[in-house]
Amino acid sequence: MTQQQRNELAELLYPKATLTIQDVEKMFPKRTLPEGAKVTRMAPSPTGFVHFGNLFPALTSERLAHQSGGVMMLRIEDTDAKRAVDGAVEIIINSLKHYNIIFDEGATLGDDVGNYGPYYQSRRADIYQAFAKELIRKGQAYPCFCTEEDLEKIHSEQEAKKDNFGYYGKYAKHRDMSFEDIKKELDAGKPFALRFRSEGNLNNKIPFDDVVKGHLEVTENDIDHVLLKSDGIPTYHFAHAIDDHFMGTTHVIRGDEWLSTLPLHLQLFDALGFERLKYMHISPLMKIDGESKRKLSKRKDPEAALTFYTEMGYPVLAVIDYVMMLLNSNYEEWRIQNPAAPYTDFEFKAENMSVSGSLFDIVKLNDVSKNIVSTMTAEQVYDYVCEWSEQYDKDFYKLLISDKDYAVRIFNIGRGGEKPRKDLAVWSEAKAYMGFFYDDLYKITSSLPENISKEDAVTILESYKNIYTPGKTQEDWFGDITKLATDNGFAAKPKEYKKNPEMYKGHVGDVSMILRIAVSGRQNSPDMYEIMEILGKERVIQRIDNALKTL
Ligand code: GLU
Repeated sequence: MTQQQRNELAELLYPKATLTIQDVEKMFPKRTLPEGAKVTRMAPSPTGFVHFGNLFPALTSERLAHQSGGVMMLRIEDTDAKRAVDGAVEIIINSLKHYNIIFDEGATLGDDVGNYGPYYQSRRADIYQAFAKELIRKGQAYPCFCTEEDLEKIHSEQEAKKDNFGYYGKYAKHRDMSFEDIKKELDAGKPFALRFRSEGNLNNKIPFDDVVKGHLEVTENDIDHVLLKSDGIPTYHFAHAIDDHFMGTTHVIRGDEWLSTLPLHLQLFDALGFERLKYMHISPLMKIDGESKRKLSKRKDPEAALTFYTEMGYPVLAVIDYVMMLLNSNYEEWRIQNPAAPYTDFEFKAENMSVSGSLFDIVKLNDVSKNIVSTMTAEQVYDYVCEWSEQYDKDFYKLLISDKDYAVRIFNIGRGGEKPRKDLAVWSEAKAYMGFFYDDLYKITSSLPENISKEDAVTILESYKNIYTPGKTQEDWFGDITKLATDNGFAAKPKEYKKNPEMYKGHVGDVSMILRIAVSGRQNSPDMYEIMEILGKERVIQRIDNALKTL
């Protein structure tokens, strides 16, 4: 094809695209930012599902941008209309905002914010087409008239011959079509996609330095990938190159599933005459499944959905801390040294990121969460549990707000002091943890341990009814229980019982257990003294009476 034919072809293929490259360059002037400032972006497809794993590139992008005085953008990659879901953008924005990931620029719930938009790829067709035409003029792109069936046929043939899949070499039927033949197809109204004319060779390796993965050698791409689909909307690859170049992205932070198409991206940057960007490819989150490791899966694992953490009521800061620990190897150490510091004080470094996939461990997350909850005041815990239950457990919420002081006293058990209790990890556990304080939720769910006879339990409960006096010190309270034990043939100390088990029915712990089951309905509970003080005499006696009837 001659140069003139190529110029003509560009106009024939995209007659309505009048924007020129110069226009585009004028639309997006270079950013003026302080030295070292990073410009990052999150570029989700609007599928309505936010994977827990998305927090990793998102938080990395947020930290690196904001820590350096840079910018983080939200760009919506809605070029695949089939996958787009109504309300998805709102879900993305709100779920990330929940984790303090707030964009400086990009799509918002209202109009776009920022000078590099539109931030929806579906609204940038004219920009992509300006560059598509340029590639056509330079002979680096051509129309392909293959139908779905044609492509399926190619695929089957490649399968049969055990050839690599894709549109390349002898399989690239339209790569060398003459101008006249193309014109004929166009005159016949045939739809076409625009393909990149790759000059790559599978025998060549390209050295490449990834900011996270380090030095890599990737194989050149020889496939003529689609740049613009038949509706004139770009594929991810083409849009990525153009958008990240013109939006001034400095670091492309994305999942490492994109490493396989990186050679194409590098080719496109070169073909378009753009300076290559820095890439940070992040490995997927792994999970132990039986004997082996696998990716945390949207289909198999409920904890893969970001909504799981809100529904369970994980404190936001616990999730952030946990993700930070997986992202930066020295974060945990830093957190131990700075237990109360905001995570934004930590200096996030790309070189401290893990090259291979992090292992997701919910037990660890729960521990992180218990630590964080243990540092909160009772009032804070109360507020969080109210906020959570208002949305997810209305009945419990009503109980909580019916008497705030009462609930705060409950949450205050074991709080403060040198060694605060670390038993609450998520807000959804609060009801099981302290529900028994409310008569509506109190129910005896545990039976007596086997070593305690019913008669002894009845005697202990009857006697305790006569001696329980609220308002004593914890020591005096415990003195009463010890006396109750010894009066009824139980040892005052577990040690004494262990030395001479034949002399006793049990020990003081068994006596407390009888009371615990009666008063809280179960074998595990926070401190009994505090429970009784909060419940008050009347309720304690009522519950003992109830136990006498049910045990
Ligand atoms: N739309 C791509 C995705 O959702 C974005 C990848 C990128 O960050 O470039 O995976």
